[in-house]
Amino acid sequence: MLENIVWRNVFIISALHAASCYGIYLKSFDIHLYSRIFFLFYAHVSGWGVTAGRHRYFSHRSFKGNRAVDILLMLMTCTAFEQSIFTWCRDHRLHHKHSETNADPYNSKRGFFFCHLGWVLLRKHPDVKEKGKSIDMSDLKANPTVMFEYKYCLLLSFIFTIIVPLVVPMYFWNERFLVALFYGTIYRYALVLHMTWSVNSFAHLYGMRTYDKSIKPAENNLVSTIAFGEGFHNYHHTFPWDYKAAELSGDFRNMTTYLIDLLAAVGMVTERKTVSQNLIEKRKERTGDSTWKATTSSIKDIFIYLTYIYIVS
Ligand SMILES: [Zn+2]
Ligand SMILES: [Zn+2]
Repeated sequence: MLENIVWRNVFIISALHAASCYGIYLKSFDIHLYSRIFFLFYAHVSGWGVTAGRHRYFSHRSFKGNRAVDILLMLMTCTAFEQSIFTWCRDHRLHHKHSETNADPYNSKRGFFFCHLGWVLLRKHPDVKEKGKSIDMSDLKANPTVMFEYKYCLLLSFIFTIIVPLVVPMYFWNERFLVALFYGTIYRYALVLHMTWSVNSFAHLYGMRTYDKSIKPAENNLVSTIAFGEGFHNYHHTFPWDYKAAELSGDFRNMTTYLIDLLAAVGMVTERKTVSQNLIEKRKERTGDSTWKATTSSIKDIFIYLTYIYIVS
């Protein structure tokens, strides 16, 4: 076990969380209102970078975008470093193909801690390396934007994950260095990481299996609310090509879909893939657990989201 620990990552993740605690401590004091607004804005940019960019666009190709979309979403992914897009997508495609096996990089059968964050601290299981070679990555290898990010991943991440959120508050409204660093930069980054990780942990362990009761991914309302619609995870694993990653559209919790629809409205995104209601109903009847019915978000969900935003910022 000990030989599988990546001590460099243990140190980095431990330091990140210790520094984030100081960021949380600082936010209880009188800090500039603009810093809190910028914190939320930048956290949303990062969140969308993961959900719309890394996940629904680059990993699943659930919609088509022009070169401007490639660049926009690539830059957004750089605001919260989580490996290169190429590596992230290969792991994610592997996660779908070999869910809940040793070849799944965030195999939830290894327990909550492992699938949430432990997998970052350990060497990859040999099956992940072995089966990873069989994943078709030809589309991303042929994408110059993705390969550019692959080559300059650390530099781009350093600029957009650290330098931009550090410098903007200090330069434009004279925020203190410590606040910009520990609150606006480090704590924000840790928050986005946990938002991403919660999909692999909470949404694989807790919730209803409305569309396929034979798989672990579940419909988790709380994860959907804090992770921009990524918690409708039983649906997503059943119909991974759907750009909504959920049965219903126009849902407040599914903010990722709003962004994609906005890009489609201005002509930058086309061919958004969906699933017919007929197919969804048939699948629910055939393999679902009959426990949950998809409903659009309610006032309660908006209240949960606003409370979350208030607490974290
Ligand atoms: Zn996925
Ligand atoms: Zn999953």
